[in-house]
Amino acid sequence: MIPKRRSTKPDKVIIARFMSEEEIAIPATASVKLDRAALVANWNALNEMSGKAKAGAAVKANGYGLGARDVVRHLLDAGCDDFFVANWQEAREIEDLTAGKASVSVLNGVRDADMSFALQSSAKPVLNSLDQVNRWQSSNRPCDIMINSGMNRLGLNVADLNLELFAGMSIDLAMSHLASADEDGPQNGEQLAAYTAGLDLVPHQRTSLANSAGIALGSEYHFDLTRPGLALYGGIQRPELAAVIRQVAMPQAEILQVRTLHIDDKLGYNARYVAKQEHPVAILAMGYADGYLRGFSDRGIFRHEGRELPVLGRVSMDLIAIDLTSAPDLKEGDWVDCDYDLLAASAQSGLSQYELITGLGSRLSRYWV
Ligand SMILES: *Cc1c(COP(=O)(O)O)cnc(C)c1O
Repeated sequence: MIPKRRSTKPDKVIIARFMSEEEIAIPATASVKLDRAALVANWNALNEMSGKAKAGAAVKANGYGLGARDVVRHLLDAGCDDFFVANWQEAREIEDLTAGKASVSVLNGVRDADMSFALQSSAKPVLNSLDQVNRWQSSNRPCDIMINSGMNRLGLNVADLNLELFAGMSIDLAMSHLASADEDGPQNGEQLAAYTAGLDLVPHQRTSLANSAGIALGSEYHFDLTRPGLALYGGIQRPELAAVIRQVAMPQAEILQVRTLHIDDKLGYNARYVAKQEHPVAILAMGYADGYLRGFSDRGIFRHEGRELPVLGRVSMDLIAIDLTSAPDLKEGDWVDCDYDLLAASAQSGLSQYELITGLGSRLSRYWV
């Protein structure tokens, strides 16, 4: 017998709430402006730098926080054919865009718990362990193989590889991942050698080693397919990339209040800033809950039409104070741009470029121009 529902009332209340939320727009108080032309130019530049190899795109972590679906749409239009996500939820998120159009690889591989979804998905797992190989072997479905060339994160050890292991499997990419491509030490060469040795022991259609920084290491590292992530979104991990990579994401916030500080007035939590002279400040609708972390306290920079507006005192959860000395005309309701060039912002805040881009909070509305 189907249990009788207690009441239909709660549903009605919920529906009414949704409807009214749809009818009355609430404009954002802080957002991230995303530059489609810059994203596409970055992919084209990385594809060019990849020489004979084709560039794919890492779109894991919701397209490094920018919105995987929009990133995938723009990169499909640009000609990108290969996407990399971390898990099957992320594969499902873009499946209607990629199915039949592009290859999607799931970097974390496949667990037992993923099998029912994975077996009917158009994405393929990157098999990282012997258990994962066994799990996938009888499926007769395509997969990729990750070779551990020395990072010792995910991947099959070269010593465990042999051609029989993969009997009957349809392997597209035999890949590996560089641990220190942003540095010039010996590890890159060691990993290149280990990966190359591993390739003889994995039947495959295509090869792939380089992430963004790896692309700048030169043609020996390019193989058939490169896998840039960070650089697509404006990150610069090696000086060779500085000339070609453009900023993609620019946070912006509305001014909620303008006030004048007088000599010796204290500002913000713990009074980290004390005014030495009279000057105007603005309070912005953004804070560390939006990913603008406290490392930017006293260091971050906002701008309005080129005028520099330094962050004063501690960044709060939802609010930031900036100096309006150079822009005393600004008032409540005006918007200012956050200096979020990833290389510079990383130096300012002590956070990595990866943390800066993936950390932009979900409270910030995102819009593409
Ligand atoms: C994240 C990731 C990439 C992209 O790396 P970036 O440094 O962001 O370019 C490529 N390959 C694998 C296996 C990854 O996990």
